[in-house]
Amino acid sequence: MLGRQTFATINLKALQHNFSVMSQCALGSNTIAVIKADAYGHGAQQVAQALASQAKVFAVAFIDEALALREQGITQAILLLEGVMSEDEMACAKQHNFWVMLHSVEHFSWLRALEKNQRPVFWIKVDSGMHRLGISLQDADVVLKANQDLIQPDTVLCSHLACADELQNSLNLKQMGILRDLAKAYNLPLSMANSAGIANWPDTHAKWNRLGIALYGCAQPADAKAGLLPVMSLHAPIIGLRNIGVGESVGYAQSWTATRPTTIATLAIGYADGYPRHAKTGTPAWIHGQRISLVGRVSMDMITLDVTDLPQVQIGDSVELWGENILVEEVALNASSISYELLTRISPRVKRRYI
Ligand code: PLP
Repeated sequence: MLGRQTFATINLKALQHNFSVMSQCALGSNTIAVIKADAYGHGAQQVAQALASQAKVFAVAFIDEALALREQGITQAILLLEGVMSEDEMACAKQHNFWVMLHSVEHFSWLRALEKNQRPVFWIKVDSGMHRLGISLQDADVVLKANQDLIQPDTVLCSHLACADELQNSLNLKQMGILRDLAKAYNLPLSMANSAGIANWPDTHAKWNRLGIALYGCAQPADAKAGLLPVMSLHAPIIGLRNIGVGESVGYAQSWTATRPTTIATLAIGYADGYPRHAKTGTPAWIHGQRISLVGRVSMDMITLDVTDLPQVQIGDSVELWGENILVEEVALNASSISYELLTRISPRVKRRYI
């Protein structure tokens, strides 16, 4: 067997299961599968193929991601969450059945400049409180009135929740109220909810929901997680084992020192593979049915774990860094990060194995 046995298993059955669990949370809505950033690191082509009979529409961030999917044979409509960057992209969108997000005044003039039959399906994004993208509330009435002639039966009014994972945050319903009022005034269907909106805020469900992280088995807060399965499991082999004495340190900068005679396992994975550089001592991993802990600093290609209590470990044994036994959210917390970042950063040198 050749090659480093560091790999991410992608469980496509778990993915399909998560899509249907989350769709059932919002029965009156259509669910768009968000597969930007290479499907949050899971492989956009494989994820799109696995969801082919469930998802009518996919969403990616920008046109390059959508064009790659077309080259890979994906035929569903694809929503571009960041919209288009030029008039040329607007025309290209129609050719490929990409749905475009109009979030600035320029986008309306690019759309208007095209012949009617060259105009793509478009959504209008308003800034209901996140202040990142979208037509501002001050401008919304003027822009919507001025462009009413462009509106089609498939035009959707949308916005994005800033705090959907915070169960007590009143901004969520405030944002939804703003969007609903505008939609009513202009008689437009809506899209607001992301994963946490679908899980936690039924009032934000609408014609279209946009399902991202929960598709991959993660959704904060914990009680919204019932029924979801982790899709990615990350594994690396033990390539070194050594015993060190009390007072001896491990790794760069001597950041961890043994307080008991300790067996250290060195694993073939590091920050160049996407394992988080800032994971701290105590970050869990899983081997032989038990939790073990990271000790010392994460290097580019290796990490070190304390396996003192597991005398049976051997060179070549595979360790789960996250997956079914260790949630990626827990590793993320230990690295002052979030599951989204950890999943999307798994680098191409980690082989994906689809099951
Ligand atoms: N909608 C928009 C506009 C987004 O930017 C994202 C993700 O960042 C999503 C939906 C999906 O969000 P989540 O992954 O939290 O479900």
